[in-house]
Amino acid sequence: MANQADNYTKIILPESEMPTQWYNLIPDLPTPPPPPLHPGTHEPIGPDDLAPLFPMAIIMQEVSQDSYIDIPGEVLDVYRLWRPSPLFRARRLEKLLDTPAKIFYKYEGVSPAGSHKPNTSVPQAYYNAQEGVTKLTTETGAGQWGSALSFAAAQYGIECEVWQVAASYRQKPYRKAMMEVWGATVHPSPSEVTEYGRGLLAEDPDHPGSLGIAISEAVMMAVEDPNTRYALGSVLNHVLMHQTIIGEEALKQLAMVGETPDVLVGCTGGGSNFGGLSFPFLREKLAGRMNPTIRCVEPAACPTLTKGEYRYDFGDTAGLTPLVKMHTLGHSFIPDPIHAGGLRYHGMAPLVSHIYEEGLVEAISIPQMECFDAAIKFARTEGIVPAPEPTHAIAATIREALACKESGEEKVILTALCGHGHFDMAAYDHYLSGEMVDYDLADTKIAEAMATVPNLD
Ligand SMILES: *Cc1c(COP(=O)(O)O)cnc(C)c1O
Repeated sequence: MANQADNYTKIILPESEMPTQWYNLIPDLPTPPPPPLHPGTHEPIGPDDLAPLFPMAIIMQEVSQDSYIDIPGEVLDVYRLWRPSPLFRARRLEKLLDTPAKIFYKYEGVSPAGSHKPNTSVPQAYYNAQEGVTKLTTETGAGQWGSALSFAAAQYGIECEVWQVAASYRQKPYRKAMMEVWGATVHPSPSEVTEYGRGLLAEDPDHPGSLGIAISEAVMMAVEDPNTRYALGSVLNHVLMHQTIIGEEALKQLAMVGETPDVLVGCTGGGSNFGGLSFPFLREKLAGRMNPTIRCVEPAACPTLTKGEYRYDFGDTAGLTPLVKMHTLGHSFIPDPIHAGGLRYHGMAPLVSHIYEEGLVEAISIPQMECFDAAIKFARTEGIVPAPEPTHAIAATIREALACKESGEEKVILTALCGHGHFDMAAYDHYLSGEMVDYDLADTKIAEAMATVPNLD
């Protein structure tokens, strides 16, 4: 591929060069991740156990041992609405920081929903529609996943019903409106729709909700109706695999300008944008073709990798999902209300947890004030207003770039700017008016939630 001029700012991959396969990291790993277990029997689950929740095509991807899976033509057609996404060289931020480092960011905010999430919502809606499913249920925290799934469901003519964490439902009326524009039905969670939700509301009518509770409600509704399935926006193997189109494109784009990354950083909520960016680079690293340091960045208020334990735990609060071996703060953990709603999840993708245990990636946590300070620097130089979640990746990028300034190293840093913050201006307002605070997470709060984790290890 032709090299771009030296003074490039964005590296655009031609549509004809868009990857046509997703990458599955599992066959390339030195050891396989531990299997999910049935919540009742504690035996490894089989495809049939997941059939009430997901279509068979998705289940087969979840357990696939193939290194590559073809992206269906009908999915590529929808991807082309915004893909390939641009890779930017952050020249203005580099100048502000006076760093010898080269900073690159892959921008996923160009999708219709404004984040990386449609990379998986589109194939998930497609496979469900193919298998005759007429309705999808899901949860949403910040509203990003709910809007991505609403958009995707509309593309293939199926219904979408979303349980939005009550605190976010009240704080972000425009995310709800966006889901409704795409034809979805939205409930605050806990909701009056499920018995579980009604029980929680009886205890506390102003219950703020949590992702774990919203997952329980969406799962309950899906298993009740044979024509309804559930869709998850992060954590699972197939979701991370759908997101690898980010890293596959970034590999090609960096090659166009003759660069190889020394450091990759990504924010981790459930691990999907991080996995999507990093897994193709990890493949290259495992094959000895490059040697980047790969770093997860999580919020100090929800430090799943850095302070959680590697244990079998439930994905939801009610304990309905299979038990998965992952880094967890305990399925009853309710994080403080930081603005990065998408990073407020008690668990971490089993695949990301596994490679962290294997020492293939590292992890740090950063408090939200430093993240918003970094986001303001970024917005005032690069222009884009980041979503609260990737402000963590930007803060870590700035830490690395300033370390390069100290040491004089000209490292190449790559990160994912996985969404824009146009629906998060209240968070910026909070920061700029001086009202934002950092939360002190007490170890006792983690210990309390960990006490509810089943003892299987
Ligand atoms: C959902 C979301 C996240 C967190 O999810 P991951 O699976 O960890 O990527 C991060 N950033 C944005 C913009 C999101 O919408």
